[in-house]
Amino acid sequence: MSEKVPAFAAADRALQMTGPKIIAASLGRGEGSRESVEAIRREYDALAAERRRILRENGYPEDWCDVRYSCPVCSDSGYDGIEICDCLKREIVKNYLESSGLYTLTKNQTFETFSLDYYEKDDKIRMKQNAEILYRFASGFRPGQSDSFLFLGATGLGKTHLSSAVARTVIEKGYYVVYESAQNLFSAYEMRRFGQSSTVGGDEDDDLDRFLDCDLLIIDDLGAEITNKFTVSCLYNLLNMRMIRHKSVIISTNLGKDELRERYSERVTSRLFGEFSPLLFRGRDVREQKLRRTYAK
Ligand SMILES: [Zn+2]
Repeated sequence: MSEKVPAFAAADRALQMTGPKIIAASLGRGEGSRESVEAIRREYDALAAERRRILRENGYPEDWCDVRYSCPVCSDSGYDGIEICDCLKREIVKNYLESSGLYTLTKNQTFETFSLDYYEKDDKIRMKQNAEILYRFASGFRPGQSDSFLFLGATGLGKTHLSSAVARTVIEKGYYVVYESAQNLFSAYEMRRFGQSSTVGGDEDDDLDRFLDCDLLIIDDLGAEITNKFTVSCLYNLLNMRMIRHKSVIISTNLGKDELRERYSERVTSRLFGEFSPLLFRGRDVREQKLRRTYAK
C-alpha cells in the first residue's frame, strides 16, 4: 500500500507520530500544555481524515488499515470521544511515573491496597473517612477547582500511602502532579539561591517552575528538612501563589500545630489552617505492625 500510494505513507507516518506527541504535550510543563494537547488532537483528526480520503480515492475501504490498531476503542488516537482513552492514560501514566521517579512509590501504594486492618475503633472510622474523602478528591479532581489538604499525624500512619494513591489517580486522569519531599523541594530553592542550577544541564527555572505550574503539588514530610528564614519565605510564597491561582496542594507533616507555628511562622501556619482541609491520621505505626506480622509468621 505504502509503495503504491506515497501520500498514504506520509499521512500514516505522521499519524504514528501524534501518539508520542500527545503524551509529551500531556506531560508538558506550564499553562500551554492542555491547549497543545487539543492542537495535536485536531492535527490527528485532520491526518486521519486525510488517510481515509487517500484510501477511498485509491479504491480501498476507509478502514483498510484499522486492523493494525492496538487499541480498538480509540484506534490509537488516544481519545475516546472527548475523554482521554484508557490506553493513552496507561501510556501517559507509565511514562510519567517512570520519568518522575514515582513508579516504585505509587506501584503498591494505591487506594485498592490501602488497608484499614491496621487501625482500631475510632481510628479505623477516621481513617476510612480520610480515605473516602481523598478518593473523592482524586477521582473528581479538577485543576484550579479542587481543595488543598494538610495531613497531620505521626510517622507510619498511611500519610505517604494515601498521598501516593492520590498522585496516581490524579495522574491517571491526565493531570500534572508533582510529588516531592520537603527536603528536596527546599534544596532545589537553596540551589538556585546559591546560583547552582538544580537541573542537570537544563533550564534553571524549569525545576522550580514545576512547583508553581503543576495541577497538584504534594509536599511530603514537611518538617524533615532543615528550616531557616529562607525556606520559610519560600514556602510562604509558594503556598501564596498557588492559593491565588486556586491550585491544589497536599502537605503531610508529623508536626503538630504549635510546632508548625514555631518553625514556619504565624503567617504560614494561618494559611495552612485557614485554607487547607486538615486530615488527622491516627493509630499505631502501620509499618511496625506489618514488620511484626511478617516476623510472627
Ligand atoms: Zn485507546
